[in-house]
Amino acid sequence: MVAPQPIKTHYYSYQSRFYDNKHSPSNAEIKLNMAKPNKKGPTRTVDIFCAQCKAQLFTYRKGGKGALIKCFKERIVKDNTQVPCTCPECGQIFARDTLVRGAPAYKMVGGKVTFK
Ligand SMILES: [Zn+2]
Repeated sequence: MVAPQPIKTHYYSYQSRFYDNKHSPSNAEIKLNMAKPNKKGPTRTVDIFCAQCKAQLFTYRKGGKGALIKCFKERIVKDNTQVPCTCPECGQIFARDTLVRGAPAYKMVGGKVTFK
């Protein structure tokens, strides 16, 4: 569990950088901005299943086409796992907890999941 963060003047800072050229965002702000869902981000959802037992693992807002390499946690609409990265039915580990460009994500293990 992450400790509760103090409320920051993030929105003010974000706005004010247009007016204040000297303002440089802190690392925490950059991370927050990058982790924020993009308004133009994907809205199409896919269901992600365990390749071994077909249990549903996530409902995920997936961007782009092609293979599922990683899941940004902020885009997981529904998480059916009880232990992170582990199938609730057969117990296989299907992903690794990681950071992608500063955003918490799961990197899927090749061949362990399917989606449709
Ligand atoms: Zn499974």
